[in-house]
Amino acid sequence: MSPAEDMVDATFPAPQPGPAAAPYWRALDEGRLVFQRCTACGNAWLPGRTECPRCLAPAAHWETASGNARLVSWVVYHHGYHEYYATRLPYTVAVVELAEGPRLISNVIGDANGLRIDMPLKLVIQREAGVALARFAPG
Ligand SMILES: [Zn+2]
Repeated sequence: MSPAEDMVDATFPAPQPGPAAAPYWRALDEGRLVFQRCTACGNAWLPGRTECPRCLAPAAHWETASGNARLVSWVVYHHGYHEYYATRLPYTVAVVELAEGPRLISNVIGDANGLRIDMPLKLVIQREAGVALARFAPG
């Protein structure tokens, strides 16, 4: 088997969410991107955790994001650091800020040549190996 055939057979690196992040992945599977908001101070964040990163209150609820976001920063990968992604080069890994405030690391799909800092993005939920992933497109 050639190295290229090995890459085609590579296993998708599926997320292994703990209890604090499981609601995020369940919601994506249902077609929604959710984030946590502190019921004590109003701070909003991702990824899911058991206490507010600002005030450490142990109480938060999940809210559905509008899908509107902006591009904070990005890098274009020309090397597949996981064999699964080696067949998809180049691809863009980005820091995205939701309109509601939380930031997440995601992908911006499409041609990276037109990307610019602060450009508006729209949520696009895509499936890989049956796992729903939050990605973004210019918009
Ligand atoms: Zn808080």
